[in-house]
Amino acid sequence: MTFACKHYDHDAECCRRLKCECIPGRPGCMLDGQFELSEDLKERLKSLEDQGKVRDRKE
Ligand code: SF4
Repeated sequence: MTFACKHYDHDAECCRRLKCECIPGRPGCMLDGQFELSEDLKERLKSLEDQGKVRDRKE
């Protein structure tokens, strides 16, 4: 399955909306609440949170 998001910055390879790594379905993502994150993505998100590299709301 392919997916394109208008918020994805292909040059910087990150999310313009959240200004951090794209993890579809994460809190603050346009897809938030539309599906369940996989365990791998949950672990990736937790790792980024621990590093202070995530934001859960757009500003
Ligand atoms: S995190 Fe969500 S809103 Fe941001 S680029 Fe990825 S899919 Fe789009």
